[in-house]
Amino acid sequence: MQETCPICGGSGLRIVEQPSQDGLTQRFAQPCVCRVERRAARMLDQARIPRRYELCSLDSYETVHKTANPSIAKALRMSRKFAEGYPVETAGKGLLFTGSSGLGKTHLSVSILKTLIAERGATGVFWEHKELLDELRSIYSLRTAGAEGRLLKSVITCDILVLDDLGDITPSDWSWDTTSYILNSRYNENLSTIITTNLANETRASSTSGEPFDKFAEARRAVTRETLGDRIGERMRSRLQEMCVVVEMQGEDFRQRVKRASFA
Ligand SMILES: [Zn+2]
Repeated sequence: MQETCPICGGSGLRIVEQPSQDGLTQRFAQPCVCRVERRAARMLDQARIPRRYELCSLDSYETVHKTANPSIAKALRMSRKFAEGYPVETAGKGLLFTGSSGLGKTHLSVSILKTLIAERGATGVFWEHKELLDELRSIYSLRTAGAEGRLLKSVITCDILVLDDLGDITPSDWSWDTTSYILNSRYNENLSTIITTNLANETRASSTSGEPFDKFAEARRAVTRETLGDRIGERMRSRLQEMCVVVEMQGEDFRQRVKRASFA
């Protein structure tokens, strides 16, 4: 059972007194702190944060591993700076976390999202890129009236969108059109998007050679790791650099380390 708020007695408003210019006391109503907290709790409920990341925070992000690459500590610093500076200093820009899996990109993204919802009253939502497209596709095939529009609108208009694992999808024209529509709409509205990707933030590996008849290009593509440019196209990749501050993370998979340690 919820206890009645001792400050406002459950009304959700508290009366504030302030001296006015003519020397009289002015009284006005302000939302009580309990109302602000309830709203934040509701917003967090709606943010779709995956269960296994529910308890994540910037404070619980571990960077003190002996072998931790300096880029890990830097990523945490940049995350804090972003959360502290939002929304004035961030000015509509987002963050693009890159690096192999297991470095905590999602942990940092979720932590920022939670902080901004709880402390800044922001609205926000978490989506895995693939999951979002699957959801839109299934709504579309069911022809649920208005549902696709409602979902798209919520993703496009929320203050903060976390798009996790960008590029981890089955490529199709529809996927790219939908993704670039979402990203461009948010960019135009000056809304911050936080993105994570395991793909290297590089141009197309296939375009590194200027030779028009490069018979080794195909073979090289096969051995080179696929890049973000390969996967989402150069135009969208360069749009991401405009939209986001790039946070490049390097190093060993923390989870692998923990696994090894416990079986040593
Ligand atoms: Zn209250």
